[in-house]
Formats: sequence, structure tokens, C-alpha cells
Amino acid sequence: MKVAIVGAGICGSSAARYVAIKGHDVALFEQFELGHDLGSSHGNSRIVRKAYPDPFYTQCMTEAYPLWAELERHADQRLLNEVGLFYFGKSDSPRVLDVANGLTEVGVPFQTLDAMQAADLLPGLKLDSDEICIYTPEAGWVDARGAIQANLRVLRSLGAVILTDYPIHWEQLENDFDAFVVCPGPWIRQFVNVPVQTTLQTFAYVGSEQPQEGPVWIEDGPLGMYGFPTEPDRIDFKIGVHELGRDVGLSDLDRTPAIHHAAFIKDLAQQRFGIQDAELRLVKGCVYTSTINEDFLLGRIGERGFFASACSGHGFKFGPWIGKLLASFVEGDDGPENHPRFFWDASILA
Ligand SMILES: Cc1cc2nc3c(=O)[nH]c(=O)nc-3n(C[C@H](O)[C@H](O)[C@H](O)COP(=O)(O)OP(=O)(O)OC[C@H]3O[C@@H](n4cnc5c(N)ncnc54)[C@H](O)[C@@H]3O)c2cc1C
Repeated sequence: MKVAIVGAGICGSSAARYVAIKGHDVALFEQFELGHDLGSSHGNSRIVRKAYPDPFYTQCMTEAYPLWAELERHADQRLLNEVGLFYFGKSDSPRVLDVANGLTEVGVPFQTLDAMQAADLLPGLKLDSDEICIYTPEAGWVDARGAIQANLRVLRSLGAVILTDYPIHWEQLENDFDAFVVCPGPWIRQFVNVPVQTTLQTFAYVGSEQPQEGPVWIEDGPLGMYGFPTEPDRIDFKIGVHELGRDVGLSDLDRTPAIHHAAFIKDLAQQRFGIQDAELRLVKGCVYTSTINEDFLLGRIGERGFFASACSGHGFKFGPWIGKLLASFVEGDDGPENHPRFFWDASILA
């Protein structure tokens, strides 16, 4: 079959790889150049974790996690840095308790640490005496840019065509291809009517006197702050804000990060790591495409098309898994209706 895939982010590039592995004739369309920073997948790193307050996602991750090793094997490239994850917050926080219960339910190994034990593994981290830390060793961060490049390299080796600076429209997908899959990230509403909000998020690298070693981490709190250890060849380390930023329209390409989010990052660096008046380097904007409950959306476009909207700020780790699902939809082995938590019966915007 001649199959078109729209979007060279993590979902589109993964779907294209799996569809090409099935032996189909794949064309991947990207509206900008490869590696651009206007969508959701750009940058060096994304958290990969099994720890979720909702055990549904912990369960999904038991399938999604090994697909990173599979991509590493296909591409002969190391992508996942398995440094573990801290999920910390008040010991009586319902979300912290839900994370621990979900990990127990699904059988994922974890430990509950107090402030001193946590600081042993993540030097400099300051937790209050009424806070605890859920530590899962099966977690870490993935090289985001490298993962997409790995997908594209495998794709090229399978003879697929990658067309850049090519904003494709629904009519051409319908007319020229036997099947198509759209993974357009924040541009999803060009194709289908789905209940998503697109917002500008901020992350920054915090100047530090020495490299930060240890796990990736998520703070249980209203701002959903999260962070990473120092990446290879750097000395600073990355912190981001999950709280939704300003709305981003379909044709709005302004990615200037929010000043107040940058201030939250400085505050966090001081409060949790004791860094006074932190110097922020590389403060960047990146777009989330979120549903109200942070679930992903999967559905059909007409008779032969499928879409995925897998963001809500946590979709990267599921990219290969979503890509594999989409390939099984194209093959007719599965359908979005079989995934009720994600299925959205969308009307087409022709
Ligand atoms: C700041 C930030 C931090 C995040 N942190 C994490 C994390 O730690 N862990 C995690 O798991 N997830 C994280 N996420 C979420 C994750 O990055 C996203 O879920 C994921 O990148 C979505 O990928 P995508 O392929 O669906 O979309 P995108 O990466 O946006 O890709 C869509 C692509 O489609 C292209 N496109 C759109 N329309 C067309 C068209 N008509 N023709 C051709 N091309 C088109 C776009 O140009 C774009 O390249 C984070 C997101 C952000 C913004």
C-alpha cells in the first residue's frame, strides 16, 4: 500500500517507521524543516517513566517502555538514559499515594524514600520533613532529537521518502494514497475537530557550578515542575513547568517563553537545590496539545485515514507505542474504536 504519514515529530516518525517495517511504501510529510522547534518534540530530552497517578498509563507503559530498547536496536544507537525517576511531594498527597498504589498494582519496582535518602541519590535536593519521594529505577530520559533522527534513519534505510517544507492537506492524502496517518501535533485541528487546547510551555537550563547527577524528577504541586540531571557535555541542568501557559493559535508561530514561568524555574532552583538567583540559559518555548483530562486521542479520518493527538505534556515516552498502534490500524489488525480511553469520533474539517 502507498501510505502517507503527516508530521516528523516523535509520533509521526515512529508511525512511519512501523508502517515501513510492515513493508508498505511510505511517504512522510513535514511542513517545516526536520528538527524545527515550533512543534512539541524538539530539544534534547524527555522524561520516560512508569510512575503515573493514573495506573492506566502505568499499565500502558509496560508495553511502551521496551519499545525504546527496540528502537535502539533498530537504529544501533543509545537513546534511553535509565537514571530512574523521583516523584516527590507531601506524604499525604492523593497523587503521591496514587502513584505508589498504581506501581504496586501493575508490579513496577519502586522505593519510598525520605528527605535524606532522596538527597543521597539526587545530591542537593531539598525535601521538607513532611514530604516523601517515590523512586522508580525503571525510568529516565530519552534523547529526544536522537530518537526522531533514529526513526528517520531506519525509515530511509527501508526506502521511505521524507518530504520537508511540505504542508500537506487532507484532499491530497485522500486522493493520492491508499491509507494515511496524521500526527500533526499542535496543528491537529487543521484536519479534525478535536477537544484540545494548545499552549506555550517553558523550560530552561539552570546554571550550576557542577553537573547535577541522579534521576529525573517530578514535583507534585500546582505548577507540575519537573527536571533532569545534567546532560552529557553540559554543566547546567534542565527544569520545566507543566502548568499550562498562554494559548497558541494554529497560525501563531511565536515561541517566546513566558517570563513568569522562567521566574518559577528560578524559584524552584533556589527552593529545591539551594541555587540563589539562578542563571537561566537557553530559556525555550514548546507547545503542548492538551485534552482536559490529559488523555491522548486516536481516531479515524474518513475511510482510510487515522489521527493521533498524543501530547498533554506526556506523550513523547509513548511515541513508539502510538506509532506501532497506528501501523496496526493501517494494516487493519486493530482500530481506534478498540481503545475506548483514547477513541475520539471526530468530524473532519475538509
Ligand atoms: C516543554 C515540553 C516538555 C515535554 N516533556 C515531556 C516529557 O518529559 N516526557 C514525555 O513523555 N512527553 C513530554 N512532552 C510531550 C511530548 O513532547 C509530546 O507529546 C510529543 O512531542 C508530541 O509529538 P507529536 O509527534 O504528536 O507532535 P509534534 O512533535 O508537534 O509533531 C507534529 C509535526 O507535524 C507537522 N505538521 C503539522 N501539520 C502538518 C501538515 N499539514 N503537513 C506536514 N506536516 C505537518 C509539524 O510541523 C510537526 O513537526 C513535552 C512537551 C513539551 C512541549
